[in-house]
Amino acid sequence: MHARDDARPVGQPLIIPIFIPHLGCPHQCIFCNQRTITGKTAQTPSADQIQQEVNRFLKYGKDRPSTTQISFFGGSFLGLEKETIRSLLGAAMPFVRAKDVDSIRFSTRPDTISQESLSLLDGFPVSTVELGVQSMNDRVLDAAGRGHRALDTVVAADLLKKRGYELGLQMMVGLPADDDDGAMETARRIAALQPDFVRIYPTLVLKGSRLARRFRDSRYHPLPLESCVTLVKRLYLFFKTRHIPVVRMGLQASDGLTRAGGFIAGPYHPAFGHMVHGEMVLDAISSALDRMEKPPDPLTISVHPCMVSRVQGLRKQNIYRLKRSFALKKIILIQDTHIAKDHLLVAGAHIILP
Ligand code: SF4
Repeated sequence: MHARDDARPVGQPLIIPIFIPHLGCPHQCIFCNQRTITGKTAQTPSADQIQQEVNRFLKYGKDRPSTTQISFFGGSFLGLEKETIRSLLGAAMPFVRAKDVDSIRFSTRPDTISQESLSLLDGFPVSTVELGVQSMNDRVLDAAGRGHRALDTVVAADLLKKRGYELGLQMMVGLPADDDDGAMETARRIAALQPDFVRIYPTLVLKGSRLARRFRDSRYHPLPLESCVTLVKRLYLFFKTRHIPVVRMGLQASDGLTRAGGFIAGPYHPAFGHMVHGEMVLDAISSALDRMEKPPDPLTISVHPCMVSRVQGLRKQNIYRLKRSFALKKIILIQDTHIAKDHLLVAGAHIILP
């Protein structure tokens, strides 16, 4: 999976996405139908198309953040023909020279990284490379039809770091032959490679993928949304302890997924990341209440205004759950701009959110 990355969490660069759906891929991984994810059909974008797309973004980006990058993703960039790689980079290069864009990034398969392929980038302002790792377990990689080994990721990450690239690693949960323990083990092995950031994607059943056939034959059962949210929360917290930012959790609401028929089954929700953060807040409040002999009723929770929706959870589920678990009749949310965004006051008790 080399998924869309044009979301921009706070502090992240503005990313101008250039889709290269499925290009450079030696075959189709079992879960992938990149054309569904990006809503595009496979075609190498021309220099004109790239320039139009970048200009379109730049026009709307008057309040640009400090860093702007052109991103090639949706396929396996270094799996493309050498000439195609050079011409795509060449089309992006003038924007960097003109200082409208700071650098170029791309996503690629781990087994496309070698001294030779990286030498193709010499002279081009590429700063960030993302690897579709998916799993660090060879059995899971086999079951997903990836066609590479965990060792390829280790070697690729090492080469990229030695050459000074910013390194992003993408992992998936819910792959065939994987489970929660396997996902945690993948996270541990990914963290050992010291990436600059990670992305976590749930496995979805997409139209046109081989997984869709297995799903129809009842040979694949996707993770239920709730348990997937809990697993991704554990992974997020793990990476946090290793000081590795998780810049994305879940695919975003792209046209390709929401269009009728693109998405078949699996733990997809347009607010997936919000659900993960909401569950972390619920855990934090619950353990604060657990430590109280008898939580007061009504219970007051004071929070920075921008955190209200996380405290409430999706459709106020956190509030309902807290009421149910602690036999509370009323919860009063107080918005207070003086409270730091990652802090809460629960019945006067000060808690810091993960
Ligand atoms: S390498 Fe990535 S983009 Fe290519 S088929 Fe596999 S998951 Fe899809």
